[in-house]
Amino acid sequence: MAAMSKTNLVLTIPEPGSFELVERPYPKIKSGYAVIKTEIAPICLEGTRIWAEHDFEFHDDPYHLGHEGVGTVVEVLPGSNYKVGDRVIVFQGDFCGQCHVCRNGLSPTYCQANNPDVQGVDRAAMKGIEYRNESESGGFAMAHYRIAPEANMYRIPDAAEFRHAAACNCSFGVGFSNQELMNVKAGDTVLVGGVGFIAMGHIISALYRNATVIGLMRNKYREGLLRRMGVEHFVNPDDDDWLEQVKALTYEGQGVDHAVDGSGVNYYQERLMQATRLYGTVNFSGHTPGAKIALSPLHHVIDPAHTLLGQHDVRVKDREGLVRSLLNEAVQRMIDVMVTHEFPMSQAGEAFDIQVGKQCGKIYLYTQQ
Ligand SMILES: [Zn+2]
Ligand SMILES: [Zn+2]
Repeated sequence: MAAMSKTNLVLTIPEPGSFELVERPYPKIKSGYAVIKTEIAPICLEGTRIWAEHDFEFHDDPYHLGHEGVGTVVEVLPGSNYKVGDRVIVFQGDFCGQCHVCRNGLSPTYCQANNPDVQGVDRAAMKGIEYRNESESGGFAMAHYRIAPEANMYRIPDAAEFRHAAACNCSFGVGFSNQELMNVKAGDTVLVGGVGFIAMGHIISALYRNATVIGLMRNKYREGLLRRMGVEHFVNPDDDDWLEQVKALTYEGQGVDHAVDGSGVNYYQERLMQATRLYGTVNFSGHTPGAKIALSPLHHVIDPAHTLLGQHDVRVKDREGLVRSLLNEAVQRMIDVMVTHEFPMSQAGEAFDIQVGKQCGKIYLYTQQ
């Protein structure tokens, strides 16, 4: 009997500003991996960098796109800890199990399986997932079917919706895990500058922790979103007295306990460091390739006793706390505000155009539609 030939449908951006859905062979898996029918693939930098400029990171190219996602397990091998029908979050990249990162529950982005210098560009990260499974498709999220290492899957609680769980990658997930690293806690003041979807994830995390948030920003559309989330304080970084305005909102005018940069550029980074109190933390979460800042270790680190930090992705050890927070109604409501646009993958072009225009929060693609 001839097996019904199943295929995969994969989103490609062969040239800037145009996409094509391409048929590829159905994924094949080896032990330790599962096939996921992806329901939602949130857009990360596929809009601003790839759609508009065809500027890729090492792990993607015109025919291999998407790393964030949630979906349903449709195939596992004997001995799996998952079963067909399980709803899961897929955390990006592969898992080696034997590196410092894997042994210590850190972010898979830093796992040696995902390191292009160790594996080679074509065998690292999501391309490595296809290589190690000898599969001609499935490494990536913007497709009907995806291969995930079971170690980077997390079962979604029955009470949580896909659209909330889909915030656990590069938006709320990144903010939440960075704030575990920063130790943001109730009563703290968090200044967030340069607000995109990663910064919005930080803001949801800070409000969930009962911290006070101050937005240092100019984008009025996004300010409106933050107001709906419950942020009450906004300062325009162009104002001459922006620093006085920020300090006036902090305990005894000390400055903020934590600052978060979502921009990746020194215009915000310098201001955020200036506004942070002695012994405060400064988190860099913005991605602007090539951007540089003039840093004086004496004046920017030792004199203010600042901790400067940042990380990609979500640490394994933070996944449970992150997913648990999805059951909090305030978190659900804030994610609903952050996700401003949802498109079927068949209309991905409109979704990417909106992200380029910046009049949006996080944008989701529904890959089965
Ligand atoms: Zn590893
Ligand atoms: Zn991402």
